[in-house]
Amino acid sequence: MLCSFCSNQAVYRSPYSGQAFCARCFKRNLEERVRTVINRHKLFEPHDHILVAVSGGKDSLVLLNVLHKIESRYTGVKLTALTVDEGVKGYRVSGVEIAKEASEKLGVEHHIVSFKEIYGYTLDEIYAKALEKGSQLHACTFCGVLRRKALNLKAKELGATKLATGHNLDDEAQTVLINLLRGSVVRLARLGVKPPRLWEGFVPRVKPLRYIPEREVALYAYLSGFKLYEEECRYVRLSMRDEVRWMLNRLEAKHPGMKYAVVGAIDRLAPLIDKEVKVEVKPCRHCGEPTARDICRPCEVLEEVGVLS
Ligand code: SF4
Ligand SMILES: [Zn+2]
Ligand SMILES: [Zn+2]
Repeated sequence: MLCSFCSNQAVYRSPYSGQAFCARCFKRNLEERVRTVINRHKLFEPHDHILVAVSGGKDSLVLLNVLHKIESRYTGVKLTALTVDEGVKGYRVSGVEIAKEASEKLGVEHHIVSFKEIYGYTLDEIYAKALEKGSQLHACTFCGVLRRKALNLKAKELGATKLATGHNLDDEAQTVLINLLRGSVVRLARLGVKPPRLWEGFVPRVKPLRYIPEREVALYAYLSGFKLYEEECRYVRLSMRDEVRWMLNRLEAKHPGMKYAVVGAIDRLAPLIDKEVKVEVKPCRHCGEPTARDICRPCEVLEEVGVLS
């Protein structure tokens, strides 16, 4: 099979367009699609300080490299990388190293922030307390909630004006369905390509890989020779996300384009839902971070296990 754009050997055929790509044309095409998303949705402004969340996994490495290629042309834009160390023994250490190396290679400033530093405890310690207290919350719940807050806090501290995360098409389609299945209408309002409006205290989050299927992100990482880490977090478990992923992949194989349809639909619906539910934020009674409730979810989960400082 030859590349549809040049005479080189193809390495991939898109199930959507039917076009075949050699390694070079595939990478260029993916970068071009990300650039189009950035422009079409006006994800960045000429003087943005973009903080890229880099875990060291494939999605975040692809995001960092592609954004560096696109945004380093603009002299007013600053790119910084941030890795969150949750504090899970035997996990993340090599991810942090990979993120650091990848940033250095590109000349991008890299920061690390840990749960221990922000919350006074590692995730291992928090989860051990949770088990002691008989809490029903799983480690991943603490992890997700506390990571989001850590990213926002550090983004503000660094003076970032945008926070970019490596969520891909598969992640986004799964999140939409999970929230629908749970009836979480309020959350659906926040699942567009960028926040429907600015909330004081939140650095706006953008997801430039939102329309790139996971397998294409993985192929880009592979063709670029990115070093990836192998360790699996010890708290990983079969979650609802896995069931939804499996269902979506099965449907997508039968009806290509379904994941795009789900994400495209929420892009159109999110602003309408936002108008309807009108979520307003106020400072958390405990930590002062923005929240729609009296006490933010991170403080709530820490309080539940008795480690709120
Ligand atoms: S598996 Fe759960 S605890 Fe581990 S890094 Fe992922 S979200 Fe965090
Ligand atoms: Zn080619
Ligand atoms: Zn709080």
